[in-house]
Amino acid sequence: MNVHDSERLAGLLESAGYVPAAQGADADVVVFNTCAVRENADNRLYGNLGHLYPTKKNNPGMQIAVGGCLAQKDRSVIIDRAPWVDVVFGTHNLHRLPVLLERARHNAAAQVEIAEALEVFPSSLPARRASHHSAWVSISVGCDNTCTFCIVPSLRGGERDRRPGDVLAEVEALVADGALEITLLGQNVNSYGRSLGDPGAFARLLRACGNIEGLERVRFTSPHPRDFTDDVIEAMAQTPNVCPQLHMPLQSGSDAVLRRMRRSYRRERFLGIVERVREAIPRAAITTDIIVGFPGETEEDFADTLDVVRAARFAGAFTFKYSPRPGTPAAEMDGAVDPAVVSERYERLASLQDEMSWAENRAQVGRRVEILVSEGEGRKDSETGRLSGRARDGRLVHLLVTGPHAQDGVVRPGDVIEAVVTRGAPHHLTADGPLHSHRRTTAGDAWEAARSRGSEAGSEAGSEAGPEVLSPAGSMSAGSGQPAVSLGMPTLRTGPAAR
Ligand code: SAM
Ligand code: SF4
Repeated sequence: MNVHDSERLAGLLESAGYVPAAQGADADVVVFNTCAVRENADNRLYGNLGHLYPTKKNNPGMQIAVGGCLAQKDRSVIIDRAPWVDVVFGTHNLHRLPVLLERARHNAAAQVEIAEALEVFPSSLPARRASHHSAWVSISVGCDNTCTFCIVPSLRGGERDRRPGDVLAEVEALVADGALEITLLGQNVNSYGRSLGDPGAFARLLRACGNIEGLERVRFTSPHPRDFTDDVIEAMAQTPNVCPQLHMPLQSGSDAVLRRMRRSYRRERFLGIVERVREAIPRAAITTDIIVGFPGETEEDFADTLDVVRAARFAGAFTFKYSPRPGTPAAEMDGAVDPAVVSERYERLASLQDEMSWAENRAQVGRRVEILVSEGEGRKDSETGRLSGRARDGRLVHLLVTGPHAQDGVVRPGDVIEAVVTRGAPHHLTADGPLHSHRRTTAGDAWEAARSRGSEAGSEAGSEAGPEVLSPAGSMSAGSGQPAVSLGMPTLRTGPAAR
């Protein structure tokens, strides 16, 4: 969600006349879009601000803006701790960034503006999309749940749903622009539609996406096990462009812990959903989120989590050590688990999950898979000469292309290929061997056009959305890998693209 908000921030600034600073060049404006889900995001923000201090001192005209969840939480504390910051804006008023930058320049004084409720739905703002072939589409913002560990509702507000017609119009426009894949975004996609008086709206939205010509892959994140109903499973199974992938957060396998987390499903319900999804979509790759060391978690509770991990055969999991968040009920609970015990449990969970992911990935060997080629997902690609992309089930695939397809620029990010899996590793698949098919796409054409334009390639040609390093004179680069955004990415123990 933050990545997509960053695309909106970039689009807004571009509309206001800002342009990308070249990679490595000194930018005139740096925007941090922050996350507050776990505590280490706090540390990273202040560390990154500290790193920028000498640059700002040498170039007082440079502006630094901090937005997003941590800004909503810390407000003017950010200016107290880092007085060289120029603008602080929250989660509800992204659209104010250009005005606040302007006002800070004009008044030569820091501007802190935090709104208490959503002012403009971010989807109505311009976006600078990080990829030609894949796009995020918000169906809702905020959350009405009260999970006791979670700071999101207090920073993002209650759930606000977009009208299905608006969502579909955005998807259609993206597809007309060359996108092949969309991911529908919401904190709890299964409650989508309740505020519109239509509880079956999410399943209907999936089916409606199935009627959009040219849309090849539909994903969504995150569903909530409490609200995950069979009509959604049926819609997934019966809509050919909905991918055989499900990211469904478990959090804990212990009923007692789930109760204290105020997650109102139990392990049996969770495992029942997994079973029904597997019956309806036999090759579905199911991924999850798990928190270790929630207050009061006993060894028995943790053993229940390991049991569910074994039974569910997750293709991957985002695993987190519990992090107390200010103002949340869990932060006041007794029974803090000794950090050494948390670390030890975390390692045990991670190695069990790696074992399970590896076994699931080895079972893919020999299968012919369709891969949407991407850019920036294979960190070693330039050394190994491989391409990378995602299979329909979200698994990451690396391939060594041989023969005529191996020439630079023949297979492009955004193109669709088929190959046979030759190896399953814990976190990815390898498909080294002849390509069985290669389809050039308009997304690939757009990537190629951006590459030949050269200077914009870093952001236009499909690098990960991320920090925006901007200069108010020309064009903008999405500085992939730069320190300007603290998105708080979790440890990923997965093959599939589980966001
Ligand atoms: N709305 C999604 C759901 O209900 O599953 C999750 C959104 S949350 C931003 C992403 C993940 O962060 C959660 O699934 C949870 O595992 C993790 N998380 C949230 N708060 C946490 C905390 N205080 N400590 C550790 N992990 C946390
Ligand atoms: Fe947080 Fe997700 Fe629970 Fe909402 S459903 S409170 S976002 S963990």
